[in-house]
Amino acid sequence: MSPEALKAESMTKRYGEVVAVDHVDLRVPSGSIFGLLGPNGAGKTTIIKLLTGLTPLTEGRAWVAGYDVEAKPLEVKRRVGWVAAEVILDDDLSAWENLWLQAKLQRLEEWKGRAEQLLRYFSLWDRRQSRVREFSTGMRKKLEIALALLHQPEVIFMDEPTIGLDPNTRRMLWDFIRGVNREFGVTLLLTTHYIEEADALCQQIAIMDHGHFVAQGTPAELKCRIQADFIELETSETIPAEQLREVPGVREVRSQGRAWLLRVGSAEETLPRLLSLLRPETIRRIHVEKPSLETVFLDVTGRRLDEGEDVPDIRKFYLNVRRARQ
Ligand code: ATP
Repeated sequence: MSPEALKAESMTKRYGEVVAVDHVDLRVPSGSIFGLLGPNGAGKTTIIKLLTGLTPLTEGRAWVAGYDVEAKPLEVKRRVGWVAAEVILDDDLSAWENLWLQAKLQRLEEWKGRAEQLLRYFSLWDRRQSRVREFSTGMRKKLEIALALLHQPEVIFMDEPTIGLDPNTRRMLWDFIRGVNREFGVTLLLTTHYIEEADALCQQIAIMDHGHFVAQGTPAELKCRIQADFIELETSETIPAEQLREVPGVREVRSQGRAWLLRVGSAEETLPRLLSLLRPETIRRIHVEKPSLETVFLDVTGRRLDEGEDVPDIRKFYLNVRRARQ
């Protein structure tokens, strides 16, 4: 097994004028979970497409399990699985028949033992004869992961694995995803725009924005580099930025629409000083944030991860469409 499951040098993808991925360097050690965290359109899915050979590189090179994605596309395909954000299951088939179909598509000879092992692992064995249309969104996702594991890949790409799932189902899937990494020895690259998901699952995270890696490290390293608290302040009367800058402990002042975002050494020390500046009845909102991946994102991009975004509930949408058709 190659020590680096995934590697890229100056990986770049342009779609006409749009630079979806811009000179990205990547190293993912074998056996780890790596997270790409970023807003819609940051370039996360394009990175998966480049690494799986679904779309050609415009510039740079990339390797999967030591194989060059352009020179050895078949070797790469044999070693990767992809759990797409979209639904890929056939609703009219049972769980077992979906696995059978996957085995046919991949021309796998010996697949039944592995399929049983996977269904048991994902607690779907008792439902193997049930049609997928009767499955909950969480059961569907587990079956999709099982399909991706059927040919025993070394690396699995998971594109927004828990998008649109409720918090309990999401947490349940996190346990299964950790298990896929530990018990099946598979390297995982997952994309997400849920900060708590990246924090909970990934040993290494790259924060992406506009096709670039804007920060990279372990969750702890990323939080550590901030070494600051953030105070969000909204008041009914205008306060000059200069006045805020002069408050001892305030390192930076940014305007956020009608609110202010202050980067401070310690919120505990700065808040009393700040409050003494303001008339209490003018304060609409004060919010303190300690270092987190959210504040790292805020720090490196100047925006919140979910700012101005309407995260689509894709899976629930598909599920509702399917149910409406029945
Ligand atoms: P999301 O979470 O919304 O899927 P993402 O981070 O995965 O976002 P990508 O899907 O990789 O982002 O898209 C990155 C950029 O490339 C976007 O500006 C997108 O519009 C553009 N893009 C992606 N695929 C194509 C394509 N086939 N043709 C033209 N532009 C594309």
